[in-house]
Amino acid sequence: MKVTYIGHSGFLLDVEDAYFLFDYYEGEIPCLNTEKPLFIFVSHKHGDHYNPVIFELLQKYPKTQFILSKDVPVKWKIEEYISRGIALEKHITVMRKWEEKDIVLSENRKINIKTFRSTDMGVAYLLSYKGKCYYHAGDLNLWLWAGETKHYNDNMRVNYFKELEKLRGLEIEAAFVPLDPRQEEDAFAGIASFMEYTKTKHIFPMHFWNRYEIIRKFLEKYPEEKERVIQIEKQGQVFEWN
Ligand SMILES: [Zn+2]
Repeated sequence: MKVTYIGHSGFLLDVEDAYFLFDYYEGEIPCLNTEKPLFIFVSHKHGDHYNPVIFELLQKYPKTQFILSKDVPVKWKIEEYISRGIALEKHITVMRKWEEKDIVLSENRKINIKTFRSTDMGVAYLLSYKGKCYYHAGDLNLWLWAGETKHYNDNMRVNYFKELEKLRGLEIEAAFVPLDPRQEEDAFAGIASFMEYTKTKHIFPMHFWNRYEIIRKFLEKYPEEKERVIQIEKQGQVFEWN
């Protein structure tokens, strides 16, 4: 198992016989094995989670499939590709909130994909592949803000925990979860609850706007989580385990 931190919420997960690329918008994608299928997930259309440049990867890696949240505008891209003689639409799966789909790779290989409703826009993804689960939150987070009304923050809590409840007790091999320093004193609440609710082995904080020190600060407050919270230090950093 190998995870490369691309940048912000962008990660490349290498699971031996497939790649999963999440929320790419900038940074360097390492050279990939063209024989291995590549699954590119987009949680929503915001500029820090989606860059249409991802579709160009299809040229280099013909075994690419795109899994896109419903809000991602893709019609114009499909039309552009038709004029280039490429059937992009055959490589796209669109997901709405609270959906479940299987992508079949071969007779006994499939990826099961479940979505959750983000508390911002789009979806979070839970994948099951070969007996292991992987989770990418997108912008599903406990977005509490000191400057917001009580009503807003209360509503946020209700919606966040409604989704988290569906993940309760789940064994997750690797999870990618927001830890956003802009939330100041409320920044830890979402990821801390996620850790409490799930049995995640490797938690990768994300969406921290290059402010890596927030991971260190988080672990100062929760030293018992050092084993499973990954201390990301730079773009392109690689994490491997068995
Ligand atoms: Zn975002």
